[in-house]
Amino acid sequence: MFVDIHCHLSFPEFDQDRNEVIARLKEAQVRLLIDPGINIPTSKKSIALAREFDFIYANVGLHPHEAAQPVDDTIFAELAALATAPKVVAIGEIGLDYHYPDYNRAAQHDAFREMLRLARSLDMPVVIHCRDAWEDTLRILSEESHSAMRGVMHCFSGDTEIAKECIRRGFKLSIPGTITYKRSLLPELVRTLSLDDLLTETDAPYLAPVPYRGKRNEPAYVRSVTEAIATIREISLDEAATGIAHNAVEIFRLPRMEQS
Ligand SMILES: [Zn+2]
Ligand SMILES: [Zn+2]
Repeated sequence: MFVDIHCHLSFPEFDQDRNEVIARLKEAQVRLLIDPGINIPTSKKSIALAREFDFIYANVGLHPHEAAQPVDDTIFAELAALATAPKVVAIGEIGLDYHYPDYNRAAQHDAFREMLRLARSLDMPVVIHCRDAWEDTLRILSEESHSAMRGVMHCFSGDTEIAKECIRRGFKLSIPGTITYKRSLLPELVRTLSLDDLLTETDAPYLAPVPYRGKRNEPAYVRSVTEAIATIREISLDEAATGIAHNAVEIFRLPRMEQS
């Protein structure tokens, strides 16, 4: 059984064939899909998908790209209301993205802090998007979170030192399809860390793994990510998949999944 803990199935890229995509993920034995919101409309859609399908869970979030300009308080109020909907298991995705120099960093900081406070008030895990912004991400996390704060660094892109720091703080590192790319640094990381600290995701429709690279990604391909982890760690696919599914249940406090 495979788990895709970060897949934007609610995005318009899947509007034409969402049911076929879901049929293929079931065929591929993907047993859990977590759909993160990036703003109000996608968070709503994510909640609706979770209502429709038992294996889908939702996250309510405000992506740093959506906070590239100052965000109105009414947006945060609405997100806070959405976060209490059934099957919302985390606040995400939230975080900082410094890749685009014209994005307002102060606005991103404010939004990140606001969403961390929401997670804290609801005692929910957080799903963090961090690109080229580790120092500020970890600093703001320290300032805004409490000792029991936990969560996921989605699409992890940091080095070993950052990985260890995140794990020390109660975070798991989610490994995307880029682990299959030739120049990826993820294989070395996956080899050295404990399986207990890893999760798998597609971040579909983006970042399709080899051999689908360049095409629209989809949740069925999370199998390729799990296979890569098993190969690198020299363990069976079943051991990798079972361990990672257990990690997902633990961090998102989900009901136990059936084995097989
Ligand atoms: Zn992201
Ligand atoms: Zn994402």
